[in-house]
Amino acid sequence: NSSLHELDPDVAAAVDAELHRQQSTLEMIASENFAPVAVMEAQGSVLTNKYAEGYPGRRYYGGCEHVDVVEQIAIDRIKALFGAEAANVQPHSGAQANAAAMFALLKPGDTIMGLNLAHGGHLTHGMKINFSGKLYNVVPYHVDDTGVVDMAEVERLAKESKPKLIVAGWSAYPRQLDFAAFRRIADEVGAYLMVDMAHFAGLVAAGLHPNPVPHAHVVTTTTHKTLGGPRGGVILSTQELAKKINSAVFPGQQGGPLEHVIAAKAVSFKVAASDEFKERQQRTLEGSKIIAERLVQPDVTEAGVSVLSGGTDVHLVLVDLRNSELDGQQAEDRLHEVGITVNRNAVPNDPRPPMVTSGLRIGTPALATRGFQADDFREVADVIAEALKPSYDAEALKARVAALTAKYPLYPALGK
Ligand code: PLP
Repeated sequence: NSSLHELDPDVAAAVDAELHRQQSTLEMIASENFAPVAVMEAQGSVLTNKYAEGYPGRRYYGGCEHVDVVEQIAIDRIKALFGAEAANVQPHSGAQANAAAMFALLKPGDTIMGLNLAHGGHLTHGMKINFSGKLYNVVPYHVDDTGVVDMAEVERLAKESKPKLIVAGWSAYPRQLDFAAFRRIADEVGAYLMVDMAHFAGLVAAGLHPNPVPHAHVVTTTTHKTLGGPRGGVILSTQELAKKINSAVFPGQQGGPLEHVIAAKAVSFKVAASDEFKERQQRTLEGSKIIAERLVQPDVTEAGVSVLSGGTDVHLVLVDLRNSELDGQQAEDRLHEVGITVNRNAVPNDPRPPMVTSGLRIGTPALATRGFQADDFREVADVIAEALKPSYDAEALKARVAALTAKYPLYPALGK
């Protein structure tokens, strides 16, 4: 019954150091967020001890009466949040949700279409050495010269290749997709439409982004990005596909569900239905627009910095460094030096190698969760702009970051 600090000071010290890192820097990785303490409490609960293969009311283990309640609450809440007919809350991650959904709908060798990785797609949408690229015949689609998904190309490729599944969704794309157009094309060629809303699910829950659920056969998501919950995945579907999806998750892909994570998911879905959450997503969007607007001002464009597609409609901005002396790695390092965490990201037709890249992906969900308002985002945007110029004053920028982190204490109850 020892505490973590008593039993394992080595791991405890690393956890404490990570808490301090999160508290003392500006977290702007677009796929990250800060889970509420109540979510972490559920995730750290005794539910981690329980085996519960199967689904609520139909388990292969005894003693599931309480985890059944938890899992059913999670299912009911997420169905209501997105207006879905059916939900599976067991996928351990977004990648596993996608794997299970594809496993349910496809046979190895079938053709799928997805947004090319270098154009903003995810590994699981058909990247060569991912399961999706190895098991299926992948026909990737792309963004056009303006940085927007080329729906004419999607239609042409779909008619030529007759895919069994079209994936609409992204990991690095600053605009909204036209789900109705994707569904029309899918119907024309007899394909399933799967929308992976992992990145923008929180915006959808808040009513600030079109909901893909009415258009898609299957919608997958992670629960830890804009949605702000524990790390994990979910699959939403029509009632007609629910049985296939359930059996693809268990026993198709996974064994025992992580009921402690499912409990944490349930708590985060309750939060996501609140007015506070909606207001937070509004600040998330406002913040990314402020950053995009700052990074197209002449003082930074002079240094070769620009913004892909010219702006953003979502929680992230893609910075284009193709004309900058800084590459993606150097720009990531610069921001890290002043206390801002982002990730370098390939841009379409990137001349630099994938480990270096010519882009940055900058997201606002975590700072919005921390409480940042428009004025704070203006300050953050200016610090980023200054840091990306050929000459910059690292010490002055660090001090500005420190003032912002001090203004919004993170997890104060967990210590410093
Ligand atoms: N789908 C999209 C669009 C993503 O961006 C990600 C994660 O970055 C995933 C799926 C995979 O989620 P996970 O990292 O939980 O496997």
